[in-house]
Amino acid sequence: MTSPHSPITATMPCRSCDMEISAIARECPYCGAEQFDTRSSALAMRDMPSDKRALTTGLLCLFLGVFGAHRFYVGKYVTGFLQLVTLGGLGIWMLVDLIMLITGQFKDKEGRPITEI
Ligand SMILES: [Zn+2]
Repeated sequence: MTSPHSPITATMPCRSCDMEISAIARECPYCGAEQFDTRSSALAMRDMPSDKRALTTGLLCLFLGVFGAHRFYVGKYVTGFLQLVTLGGLGIWMLVDLIMLITGQFKDKEGRPITEI
């Protein structure tokens, strides 16, 4: 139950301050630095890139962004519909989405970044 290698009890040095913190901690309790990679598989799954393609999402956003097409594509139906009725937030919202996408920060409905081309 309490094996030292259990992901629940295991500790790892913080990426930022090197304090021993829980291996599944998302943030260091000492310095607040965000922890990623080499973490538990559950968190690794969450940080996996989306299976949606950035190129497809980008093209949809570029040509059909005012209809929220790229948001429908990644499964964000509610905000996609909002974009549809506001014409992509009068173009501003879709432009923000496009910039987020280019910079690798646009996420799908599971919160996974869309980075695969
Ligand atoms: Zn730290």
